[in-house]
Amino acid sequence: MTVALCMGSGIKAAAPADDFEYNNERFADLQMLRYKVHGFEQLTVKQKTLVYYLSEAALCGRDILFDQNGAYNLRIRKMLETVYTDFNGNRQSDDFKAMEVYLKRVWFSNGIHHHYGCEKFVPGFSEAFFRSALKGVDSNKLPLRKGQTVDQLCDEVFPVMFDPTLMTMRVNQKDGEDLIKTSASNYYGPGVTQAEAEAFYEAQKDTIDPEPVMYGLNSRLIKKHGKLTEQRWTAGGLYGQAISKIVYWLKKAATVADTPQQKDVINELIKFYKTGDLRTFDSYSILWLKDTEGMVDFTNGFIESYGDPLGLKASWEGLANFKDLDATKRTEKLSTNAQWFEDNSPVDPRFKKDECKGISAKVITAAMLGGDLYPSTAIGINLPNSNWIRKQHGSKSVTIGNLTDAYNKAAHGNGFNDEFICDPTVKDLIDKYGDVCDDLHTDLHECLGHGSGKVLEGVSDDALKSYGSTIEEARADLFALYYLGDPKLVELGLTPNMDAYKSQYYYQMMNGLMTQLVRIEPGKDLEEAHMRDRALIANWAFEHGKANNVCELIKKDGKTYLQINDYDALRQLFKELLIEVQRVKSEGDVEGARQLVETYGVKVDPELHKEVLSRYEALNLAPYKGFINPVYTPVLDAKGKIQDVKVSYTEGYAEQMLRYSHDYGFLPFINE
Ligand code: ZN
Repeated sequence: MTVALCMGSGIKAAAPADDFEYNNERFADLQMLRYKVHGFEQLTVKQKTLVYYLSEAALCGRDILFDQNGAYNLRIRKMLETVYTDFNGNRQSDDFKAMEVYLKRVWFSNGIHHHYGCEKFVPGFSEAFFRSALKGVDSNKLPLRKGQTVDQLCDEVFPVMFDPTLMTMRVNQKDGEDLIKTSASNYYGPGVTQAEAEAFYEAQKDTIDPEPVMYGLNSRLIKKHGKLTEQRWTAGGLYGQAISKIVYWLKKAATVADTPQQKDVINELIKFYKTGDLRTFDSYSILWLKDTEGMVDFTNGFIESYGDPLGLKASWEGLANFKDLDATKRTEKLSTNAQWFEDNSPVDPRFKKDECKGISAKVITAAMLGGDLYPSTAIGINLPNSNWIRKQHGSKSVTIGNLTDAYNKAAHGNGFNDEFICDPTVKDLIDKYGDVCDDLHTDLHECLGHGSGKVLEGVSDDALKSYGSTIEEARADLFALYYLGDPKLVELGLTPNMDAYKSQYYYQMMNGLMTQLVRIEPGKDLEEAHMRDRALIANWAFEHGKANNVCELIKKDGKTYLQINDYDALRQLFKELLIEVQRVKSEGDVEGARQLVETYGVKVDPELHKEVLSRYEALNLAPYKGFINPVYTPVLDAKGKIQDVKVSYTEGYAEQMLRYSHDYGFLPFINE
């Protein structure tokens, strides 16, 4: 589970500038940033080598994600890239420039649908232009089927790109529709219905198994001769060309592992990639979560299921990182007190963990982002996702310090606060405590929020169906919000006083009620789980606090602002909702989940939306941000042994994407 950055702009106090260039290029609704790998030079050569190998492993699965996000994505990317690099016509024409923006968006989203909102991009160039451009390049460079002409390729692929009625949403979560048939993601083959897929996995479930695997996690479900069957993602199966490259780099990484435990972790992962056996994935996950001693760490594999409308199948992601020792002192205060937080949580004792085992939390420095963490990324991660493992063995949480830092520096002085906050007292609170409480919210969300509570015996991992992700994120956010206002945090020295938390309360309410809407197009609903979660919390608290005037939306010079009148009462509301959301989760009450999400987390007030969009537009900011990776270059001695690894930050966005497509383009364009 992850925490995505809410807005990544505005809420932050002014950060001191340094000479590193954080902001990079900007297009569509996207701003590219660079992040600095603080402390890399201080690692030992062995650790640097390990980071390098894990970084390569993090990049090798890029094509897997493209294909998971849509069956035509790899072909479309190749067609666009070929025209982008080889086009001989007028590169200044509106059509070409629009195609360039479209390609940059496809790179960013790992496909033709928006990375966050999930809706299909509308190309700003004509079909005629693209067809003629494709016919003007060397056809050997195009992803043609055997015997296919360029015209036939266009006829096959263009409707997917240009027809606004086809493959409209990557992930559709609309209540009442067949979520598989109406989602363009490629986790289920042609003709598979939601009812069939649900029945298929229901039949596999062994309800008496106390240690159930995560059914369906690492496969595509297809229909073959009318029968459902899984195509496993393994070194010898579907996506095998990419997976064997990942295994190649993992094997190298195992030779320079930080600790003997880590070597076992890596070897178990290799075994999983080779066999696809989900029991091996579980044993790997347990080894991984217990490996907390080493400096360098990683995530690599089929991890999060936000991209599957049924929440079963996991997208591929990779992350190489190492510990930020100083900042980790902060999260250790939380993890060592995990039992206190669990015991004092307001939820029904039946849903509490008796014993908080194996909870670890650290602040890390990201060294390489890959797959579903690139270029748009999470700022916090808590794994593994398997409920029984979390219950019996605990979980590992990370807050990614250098990415948050890059967001802060890039957002410096962007005018967002001045536009959306009119109360000088609130601005002052945010200037003083915004940073501290934002980081703490992430720590609490990941380490304690996702790590807390338990589901009742017999309630399956996917009991809440398509509402599962939103409810889980809401639970983690509410846990964080409730405890941010607790005197315990002052006692632990994590917040300076009992005013600090108000900065985060204000921000979360403002974001959930208003400002996160800048990411939504007029007329559209909220789709993404973290956005739904934040709207759910803010709208619920707003509505339930109305009688006591806890919060209100006030008008000043025709603009709407949030005013919080009673922070204590707001904390009580968060507490009430936490109790209810935990109940829904623990009991697997899918009807309760539906009520909460559909009532408070999906719909948008069109008037307020319009106003927020126009105010935001005037600021000329990009609502989404993503990162360009650094480049690592090993320095070899005469025998070819690595004696140092250099890091550089000069590669451009398009340059990096083209290089990745070339160097890590392991998959065939069609994976059937
Ligand atoms: Zn989360």
